[in-house]
Formats: sequence, structure tokens, C-alpha cells
Amino acid sequence: MSQGTLYIVSAPSGAGKSSLISALLKDNPRYDMKVSVSHTTRASRPGEENGVHYHFVSVDDFKALIEQEAFLEYAEVFGNFYGTSRLWIEEMLSKGVDIFLDIDWQGAQQIREKMPNAKSIFILPPSREELERRLNARGQDSDEVIAKRMEEARSEISHYNEYDYVIVNDDFDVALMDIKAILRAERMKQDKQYSRHHDMIDRLLD
Ligand code: 5GP
Repeated sequence: MSQGTLYIVSAPSGAGKSSLISALLKDNPRYDMKVSVSHTTRASRPGEENGVHYHFVSVDDFKALIEQEAFLEYAEVFGNFYGTSRLWIEEMLSKGVDIFLDIDWQGAQQIREKMPNAKSIFILPPSREELERRLNARGQDSDEVIAKRMEEARSEISHYNEYDYVIVNDDFDVALMDIKAILRAERMKQDKQYSRHHDMIDRLLD
């Protein structure tokens, strides 16, 4: 069986990254792919469940996990720690499951170093105005928090050119089609096709 593919997905907050990933998983119920659940030291937001959206841990627990080399990558993002569980990822990839990592540019850099076969996708909003409009429409944050998120967005976006693929999320359905096209093309890679169809290919060569 061939290894699963590791997809790194980054975007500024409000670009639609989480909605795109959930739509992708919902539309492909038979296709083996999962989203990695990170550990974080930030407080949970209303509606977030421990073990589903994140594993919420204390700073001490997070530091102990770093000591145990439990993370494939970790980073401090906007004052909180976030990390990707190494064992779970390795296990899933070895079972042929494709994994999505919703992580920032710092984590993406670490993963590229360690796993050069990972594919990375950056999601851009169509404009700063639209990004601000979307952040306001969520109704979650104060004006001050939104101004901070807009600053953070500029810094995240400045790394877009380190990624293999760039998707502009202007129209959600088009962006979803684009991300599906990337996945489909990856699945057609010669080595993946051979491990899937080796009997057939061997017979064709008989
Ligand atoms: P939020 O707190 O809004 O859920 O996420 C803030 C940022 O942290 C997002 O850009 C998200 O992609 C990033 N993030 C979430 N989990 C991880 C992780 O495990 N590692 C890294 N490096 N970034 C993460």
C-alpha cells in the first residue's frame, strides 16, 4: 500500500480555510482522508470541543510533550502554542490515509524540512476589504481584535510564495473545486497509481 499524502493548508484567519477543509471531507466520504487535531494552549472558544477541534492542554503539559518529542512541528502563534502530533500522523500516513494539517507558515516550514513529500496549499482571500468584511460577518470579535487579525493576516500572507499551490477563495464553490483538483492530480501520480493498480499494470505488460 502506498503512503498517504500529507497536505499542509495555511491561510490568514477569515480566508475560509476551515470551511474548505470541512466541505472537502464531507464531499468525499469514501476517500480516506482526515484532518489532524492539534494540541494548543489557547482557551477553547464557545462551540469548540476538546479532542475534536483541538486537544486543549496547559503550557506545562505542552512543554512536557515537546520534551517527549511528541510533535512533528510546533510553534507559538499569536501568543499561544500549537503542535501537530507526530505518532498519529506517522500511523495514518503508513495506513495510506491522506492527512490535512491546518497550520501556520512556521509549522509549514518545519514540516517541509522533515517531510519533503508533503504538499502545501495557501488560501488567499480576494482582497483585504473582503477579508475584513468576513471577519466582521462572523460577529465573534471586537473591532480591536479584528484590527489585530488584519495585521496578523498581512504577516501570514507574506509567506504565500513558500507554498506549492495557491488558491484564491473569492467564490467558495470554485475554491472547493480547485482544492479537489489538487487532490485528484496528486492521486494520479505514477507511483500512487502503480501501488493501487499494480496487478492490472503487470497484466497489461504481460
Ligand atoms: P486558531 O487559534 O484561530 O484556531 O488558530 C490560529 C492559527 O494557528 C491558525 O493559523 C492555525 O492554522 C494555526 N495552527 C493551528 N494548529 C496548529 C499547529 O498544530 N501548528 C501550527 N504551527 N499552527 C497551528
